[in-house]
This record gives sequence, C-alpha cells and structure tokens, in this order.
Amino acid sequence: MTIEQTLLQRCDSKCELCTSDSNLTVYEVLPVDISGAESSIMVCDVCHGQINNPDTIDVNHWHCLNSSMWSEVPAVKVMAWRMLKRLSSEGWAHDLLDMLYLDDETLQWAETGSSSSDDDSAPTLDSNGTVFQAGDSVTLIKDLDVKGAGFTAKRGTTVRNISLTGKPDQIEGRVNGVRIVLLTRFLKKAS
Ligand SMILES: [Zn+2]
Repeated sequence: MTIEQTLLQRCDSKCELCTSDSNLTVYEVLPVDISGAESSIMVCDVCHGQINNPDTIDVNHWHCLNSSMWSEVPAVKVMAWRMLKRLSSEGWAHDLLDMLYLDDETLQWAETGSSSSDDDSAPTLDSNGTVFQAGDSVTLIKDLDVKGAGFTAKRGTTVRNISLTGKPDQIEGRVNGVRIVLLTRFLKKAS
C-alpha cells in the first residue's frame, strides 16, 4: 500500500484535523526521520492552505481541533499542538493547549517544527563555529536541565548520531534514551 492509501484507510477518507472530505492531500509533519504514514497526516485543502500560509488563518475553522487533538495518531496531535500554539492568543485555543498532553518525544517533535521563520539554508554550527552534520557525535560543554524529562544531561556527555532540525541553533539527539533538542551553543563536535 502507498502512504496515501494507508492514510486514507486510517482517516476514513476524512481530513484528520477537521473531518472535511474535500480535496484530501498527504501532509508530512516535519521534521521526520523516515517518511511514512506515521509521520504524515491526511488533510483537506482548507486546513492545508491555512497550515502553509499562516496569513490566511481563519480562527473559527480551527475549533475542529477540539476533537482532533484527542486523536490516537501522534502526527495528528503534533499538528493540533502546533496550530493551537499559533492560535494561543485566543482563549479557547490556549485552554485546549493546556489540556493537550504530549509525551516527551512527541512534544519535542511538535516544538522542533513549530517555527518556520528560520532560514533553512544557514548551517548548524557548534560553540566553536564548526559545522555540524547529521550523524555527528557531539559533547555537552555544560550541564543541561532537560525540560519535561526530569534529568540533567551532564557536561561531557557524548551524544551520538545527531540529527539536524532545520534550525541553525538546534540539533536533536538521544540522551538517556530520550530524544531531545539541544542548543548548539552548549555543544562541541566530538573528535
Ligand atoms: Zn481539514
């Protein structure tokens, strides 16, 4: 089955955000390690247009998140979280965001992709100005409290096989088995 077929089955041919059935398309919830149904959602043209072009957001359309945020599908929850975050100046959206629980990994996913204003073409640099590549190993140069995970990543910890996030000041990696976003200014490339 193609990703599209898998998604159509999962969503019962309805937009996974607003349940409309018009002009469904596959939307990949970036950043993703492996493209697939797990990292994609099926959305209608209205949702798709407003996700891609924040200037056209019609606040009332997104009351649909009231139900879709409870989806079992992590990618749908991530997208609901991001849209609620964008709309969080609205009282109702702020309240829903407070209720929306994401596990650590899903929250990192949601946060990593929530800003698209950064320049994707800027290289990711460490504290010494060395360019990071996906797959590099890095060393922490400072103790870091890992928000939400309840532990401190110690200075000197090596994080292997990092991924880039599209933001020049952040990378992703696994510390104590938890996938987290790390600020590159607290890192140096491990030799
Ligand atoms: Zn929709």
